[in-house]
Amino acid sequence: MVLATTRTVTLTIDGQQITVPDGTTIWAAARAAGIDIPVLCHDERYDPVGVCRMCVVDTGARAYAAACVRPCEDGMDVKTATPEVERSRATLTELLLADQPPADRDPKQRTTGDNELLALAERYGVTREGGLPLSSGRGTDTSNPVIAVDHDACILCDRCVRACDDIQGNDVIGRSGKGYATRIAFDLNDPMGSSSCVTCGECVAACPTGALTNKPIRGIPIRPRAELDQVDSVCPYCGVGCALTYHVDRERGAIAFAEGRDQPGSKGRLCVKGRYGWDYAASPQRLTTPLIRRDSAYPKGPLSADVRGEMNRAPGENGATGDGRKGGKDGGRRRGRRPGGLVDYAEVLPHFREATWEEALDLVARRLTGIYAAGGPGAIAGFGSAKCSNEEAYLFQKLIRTGFHTNNVDHCTRLCHASSVAALFEGIGSGAVSTTYGDVVNSDVAIVTGSNPTANHPVASSFFKQARRNGTTIIYVDPRADKMADHADIFCQLKPGTDVAFYNGVMHEVIRLGLTDAEFISRRTSNYDALAATVADYPPERAGQITGVPADVIRRVARAWGEARAGVIFWGMGISQHTTGTDNARCLIALCSITGNVGRPGTGLHPLRGQNNVQGASDMGLIPMFYPDYKKADDPDVRARFEGLWDTPGLDPERGLTVTEIIGSALKGGVRGMYMMGENPFLSDPNINKVRKALSALEFLVVQDIFLTETAEFADVILPASSYLEKDGTYTNTDRRVQLGRKVLDPPGQARLDWEVIQDIANRIGLGWTYASAREIFEEIVSVMPSYANLTYGNLGPAGKLYPNPDPEHSDGTVVMFGERFNTDDGLAHLVPAEWLPAKELPSPEYPFVLNTGRLLEHWHTGSMTRRSFALDAISPRAEVYLHPDDAAELGLADGDMARVTSRRGTIELATRVSHREARGNCFIPFHFREAAANLLTIDEIDPFGKIPEFKFCAVRIGPVPGGDR
Ligand code: SF4
Ligand code: SF4
Repeated sequence: MVLATTRTVTLTIDGQQITVPDGTTIWAAARAAGIDIPVLCHDERYDPVGVCRMCVVDTGARAYAAACVRPCEDGMDVKTATPEVERSRATLTELLLADQPPADRDPKQRTTGDNELLALAERYGVTREGGLPLSSGRGTDTSNPVIAVDHDACILCDRCVRACDDIQGNDVIGRSGKGYATRIAFDLNDPMGSSSCVTCGECVAACPTGALTNKPIRGIPIRPRAELDQVDSVCPYCGVGCALTYHVDRERGAIAFAEGRDQPGSKGRLCVKGRYGWDYAASPQRLTTPLIRRDSAYPKGPLSADVRGEMNRAPGENGATGDGRKGGKDGGRRRGRRPGGLVDYAEVLPHFREATWEEALDLVARRLTGIYAAGGPGAIAGFGSAKCSNEEAYLFQKLIRTGFHTNNVDHCTRLCHASSVAALFEGIGSGAVSTTYGDVVNSDVAIVTGSNPTANHPVASSFFKQARRNGTTIIYVDPRADKMADHADIFCQLKPGTDVAFYNGVMHEVIRLGLTDAEFISRRTSNYDALAATVADYPPERAGQITGVPADVIRRVARAWGEARAGVIFWGMGISQHTTGTDNARCLIALCSITGNVGRPGTGLHPLRGQNNVQGASDMGLIPMFYPDYKKADDPDVRARFEGLWDTPGLDPERGLTVTEIIGSALKGGVRGMYMMGENPFLSDPNINKVRKALSALEFLVVQDIFLTETAEFADVILPASSYLEKDGTYTNTDRRVQLGRKVLDPPGQARLDWEVIQDIANRIGLGWTYASAREIFEEIVSVMPSYANLTYGNLGPAGKLYPNPDPEHSDGTVVMFGERFNTDDGLAHLVPAEWLPAKELPSPEYPFVLNTGRLLEHWHTGSMTRRSFALDAISPRAEVYLHPDDAAELGLADGDMARVTSRRGTIELATRVSHREARGNCFIPFHFREAAANLLTIDEIDPFGKIPEFKFCAVRIGPVPGGDR
């Protein structure tokens, strides 16, 4: 490694005089000078171990030195490729090769064309003939759905061990056995597929032989890179926005495999979704033709048994579909059928007929303009998508605003971080993160709260884990003891919905101990006295009583945070998805501000964004209260500016309705026509029975999507869209990094680019748009949004750029914001005190459990992509309710037993997962599974500021399903 030190040493390598920082290894110095020294056990991302001896060099000493571990010395004369050194490497290669399994033994040996050992064999002219006809007999392991292990091909270089431990922080791989029988081991020598492995594939990326290899997915063989096309893009799942390269088999028109790509944020890492979850685009269920609802499918309502609710009905509820229709031909008989989580096209498609694009788009334009003419702007609404690109989000909101003169346009940010954004705007004048997740390397302490990052932001969590190994104190605050708790110095398992009391207690103690930053408070904040007065009522004892976290632990947190030189807070939807979500985020802003932990490296506020482009979609104005760049929709000057920019007089002077308000309005006959692009509110919104009624009540619904989603069952017209992999566009990650996603595949059938479809609708209602490409739309975005100033497709480069960025030709952009002033009008952080309020629906004798909903590592949102991915569905195929072992035992439920969960709004049945990570009295249900839709249970109470629903707290009762099987 090359070290950052002022002392240098000068040496000669292969006749070149080289000066490097003291401590630099010979291998790194040679590499910096353009001299390649072969390695097997080494990778510059890991600490060197020097076990394989392939990198030996002649330093003039009696024995050769391993260049990867040997530091350079002043005056050293190194020869890297003498005939003797090369002979040593050739012999070593021959010995290693002799132990390799025969090339034709199993498919994975044929799929390792980039095998580094075989490349060395070729370099040294070594073949297996003449070597020892042995293999170690250590065996193979194909128990993981997408990773094959051939222990015989393993050279025990430990690269996989270091990749798993040091890079991803998963700590799965070790060693077992002795002598010649030694092999890598997963956990306690378990099969990989039943170990604690999370299938991130980092070990596969690290393996220099064919010991760990990707299995082919959907039958597409994994060939050497040279035989495949490489397309650099970005992962389409979470807000971490990992950079990756798709290796594309052009002959078959399919992706063969994906791997991480270097980028300042993700640094080449991926999780299971990014590395293995891309084959949804090849699903046979892709929509390929525009569809129009048949006359026989009116009056409108859901078309499948799942969506009608027959799968989830409790006894005595037969016929109650929630939409006023009776419960299907078979009444309740189909209850209990579990179709594997995908819509049954044979059940739904007959209700639609194929149409041409012309017919479908004409119908969309005619019906929406008709409803607009009759009902005015308030009768129209649009849901865009945080999965779509910035260009698509920008055009979508522009269409709704200029075509229908309404601000009724929103997307799933309302279900995610709306309350965080409300609090951040109020507090610091900006909804974006103040620093990047990677900046945690500069933090003495990091609070991770209301977040399950190992599942939801896995690559970001790997940086948190790595920071802890390097000395950062991690404080984890969450009602669930999820994996992050295993990596925390202090874990606070608070009662759900008590965050305000917890952080008020911490602030109380910080102030009492005199650990505030008085200078920062007086120079950079307002309203401190009111905050101090409020938190004075939350001594740790009282906070402990409310939260269940012992007072001493609250004191410990306060001291660790208050004494830190640099502290950062990362939070997720456990903070935001409450009726007190804005108050929760206000407390975090206040905690950072009173301790001066904003505006310096290693400090700041980071709401970890959910979807891949939820930051960008919000930036683009896909929200009812802001135009692009967060310009207030109800500000007359702003409106006048956009009327000029878009050449459209008469824009809506009022803020529009949010997602949940639009659903409520549709129920009352207010909103009557909707355009939904890439959203699936049937599964993602709270209280599905209410959503079902609202969607059924719409006069006209057009859904633009890649699959026939649950929401599409209510559509009058369905437009087949292009998947992420089939288009160019920009995406803005949680760090404010704007990156280019590039087209990898062709869209199937007649599926079209989303921005083209939006433009076609716009032109049918008379807007006269003439965009020729996504690039051209981006140029308009930059011209109207000062935050994105200076960014172009040309200068984003392979790694993208952070915004704001005054000099993107030479700089990656701004990591740490608010060094001097905040974005508020007066430049100060506005501290807003909050009193703790209990959740809206507390447990009762009838509904004694608290339900918490969320995501799993392997699935995403409503599962429309991940449940059609082979790897992700294979690893996580079914809905489960997670229960504390004692609760499960009291309820008579064993692991795998079918449980019935009932709230005041509905009932679902799903398998029991006994989990020591739950607290007693709480249960957790992921919301990805249509056959056991968690949002049938959730309450639709919303936060008064962010208008976000209370997904994290409602009361339920749980019991066995009578006669329930496993
Ligand atoms: S796939 Fe990831 S978690 Fe599993 S063993 Fe490899 S590095 Fe570790
Ligand atoms: S961490 Fe997020 S962006 Fe990165 S690979 Fe996983 S899902 Fe994709």
